[in-house]
Amino acid sequence: MSDVKKILITGESGFIGSHLIKHFVFKYPHYIIHGLDSLTYASNKDLTKDLIAKPNYFFHKIDIRNRHEVLDFFINHQISDVIHLAAESHVDNSIANPLIFAETNILGTINLLDGFKQVSSGRFHHVSTDEVYGDLDINDRPFDENFAYAPNSPYSASKASSDHFVRAYYKTYGLDSVITNCSNNYGPHQHEEKFIPTIIMSILNNHSIPIYGEGNNIRDWLYVQDHVEALDIVFHNGSKGETYNIGANNEISNLDLVHHICNICVEKKYHSNPKKLISFVADRLGHDKRYAINYSKIQEQLSWRPKFDFQTALESTIDWYATNFQS
Ligand code: NAD
Repeated sequence: MSDVKKILITGESGFIGSHLIKHFVFKYPHYIIHGLDSLTYASNKDLTKDLIAKPNYFFHKIDIRNRHEVLDFFINHQISDVIHLAAESHVDNSIANPLIFAETNILGTINLLDGFKQVSSGRFHHVSTDEVYGDLDINDRPFDENFAYAPNSPYSASKASSDHFVRAYYKTYGLDSVITNCSNNYGPHQHEEKFIPTIIMSILNNHSIPIYGEGNNIRDWLYVQDHVEALDIVFHNGSKGETYNIGANNEISNLDLVHHICNICVEKKYHSNPKKLISFVADRLGHDKRYAINYSKIQEQLSWRPKFDFQTALESTIDWYATNFQS
């Protein structure tokens, strides 16, 4: 195998994957970047169309559930490294249909690990979620990397399982792997099914804003570009076999977040009275109360910390949806 890095980025046409692959293709012109995606409903190939002319970028429409295609792909392209983001990612869908979450998130990850094991000399970076740690009470300390896994939704159970397989391939076969567990992301290009785009689009279209239960669930929100920077740093400088938590120290309840977005939309004159659109709906089954992340390991060992200010990044996200989607 040549010394040139040939990196496979899976889930490249999804929300985080599209931001990450652009970052890699432009920042590292000396790497060959292969983007892979099966182009499910959650993808948007337009997000990466400005990469088509780049000489270091190649796209492959492959479903990671297709084992033979995945194994052949690694041999045909002599992939050196993987950053794995392809997944079924919506908790509500996992409650309605858990099986595809097991097929893509667990079996798909095993297919990629086996493809990687055949030929690759570099690193397998598995991109995962803080939801694998389960649920926190209001006074509990935030998740650190030593927290026991306790996933509660079929989505988080499938991601937890895939994390365990990555770790097992490191322990059993000595693969060079790293795992990152990140809190909730927001930013441009996120699918409308997710919470922040749902709020924004509801306001822009004057539809009711659905809030589960009483809106007391607390999440930690990280701007997607901060996540991308963290993935870059862990991919290049993280220690083999290690896990790194990525978060923003930016906890807010769902109801407070909705109020906050409503206030911004009034200031920006996107709506005169969006709070009247708020509608409390039956709570999500098994809804985790609180996620909070201790990211001191990546901060102390790899000098990463979130840079984007929540207010500014949220405002620009709202502007992006208003510019691109308002009917
Ligand atoms: P997304 O749903 O926007 O994108 C997922 C991409 O994977 C889509 O382009 C989809 O077409 C592709 N995909 C799905 N099934 C596939 C299959 N069988 N074969 C090939 N491609 C397939 O998700 P996202 O929000 O960008 O998340 C990316 C990764 O980051 C996921 O692994 C997710 O678990 C993780 N993550 C997301 C967040 C978040 O807040 N969005 C937070 C932490 C971790």
